[in-house]
Amino acid sequence: MDIIAIDIGGTNIRSAIVRIEGDSYEIVKKVKVQTGQSPLESLVSSVDGLLYKTVCDIYAVGISVAGIVDKHTGILLKSPNIPKLEGINLRDFVSERIKDTDRFIIENDANAAAYGEAIAGAGREFDDFVLFTLGTGIGGGVVLERKLLNIPAEIGHMSINNEGLQCPCGNVGCLETVASASAIINRVVGEIQNGAETIMKRLYNGNFYKINAQDIYNSALEGDLLARNVLRDAGKGLGIGIANVVNIFMPDAVILTGGLIGAWNIYVDSAIKEAHRRAMKELISKTRILPSILGDDAGLIGIAYLVKGL
Ligand SMILES: [Zn+2]
Repeated sequence: MDIIAIDIGGTNIRSAIVRIEGDSYEIVKKVKVQTGQSPLESLVSSVDGLLYKTVCDIYAVGISVAGIVDKHTGILLKSPNIPKLEGINLRDFVSERIKDTDRFIIENDANAAAYGEAIAGAGREFDDFVLFTLGTGIGGGVVLERKLLNIPAEIGHMSINNEGLQCPCGNVGCLETVASASAIINRVVGEIQNGAETIMKRLYNGNFYKINAQDIYNSALEGDLLARNVLRDAGKGLGIGIANVVNIFMPDAVILTGGLIGAWNIYVDSAIKEAHRRAMKELISKTRILPSILGDDAGLIGIAYLVKGL
């Protein structure tokens, strides 16, 4: 059966036709556009691009989106990374533009990604695991006894520092303000402004506001002390988040996904050390911490399998 899966993120919008036959799936066609400053227009062009010259029998439609959704109405209630889509009824959008269907699901993107990993990725071999999505922000999804928990799982917004930075969600010291890509970049830019010595201040002809997470990791590999310290500190924050989650769920595995896992040997290693230092030994001793398999496609595959189950 052919399912239309749409994954709306802060950076990219991906639309795909996912063909599911029994336990196996195939992404038949995929269109990716940047979310940009007009996310609704980007969504339209992504879906139009997908449907253009496409002949298929659409069984169902699923949307995974970075934010808090009302699953009954299809309205995106809150999305710190895509505020321009807040209040939009995505179910109506699907009915008007793609197909008027009862087989429709909308789900938080990290939850969908966790389900994708459970069915077809790194989560297949575990009954219980927690997925952390580590990018511009930090999201999460929890699978227990092979079922996706129907909870927000906003693990990026657990507060890990009482005196920490203000977070756009309204809380202070959220994991996301310490360990996300934007937190890492903000800290590096701030330290350079305060006169820190680093090879990164020469990047982009001195226009260091353009520095991205990859630049920071590359500089760390070249031995830059500031880059290494920032990545290690962010990893430590992530480790606190992992320890908290392990103490609550005692999962078989913690699966990490998102752009930041490219810095595994510094950022994640530091997180693993910190998690073991903080979590209760009896709870973390058997927990494996490992990278995702599906990567960027996890949300598309997860939402396709979720809507197939209707
Ligand atoms: Zn927050």
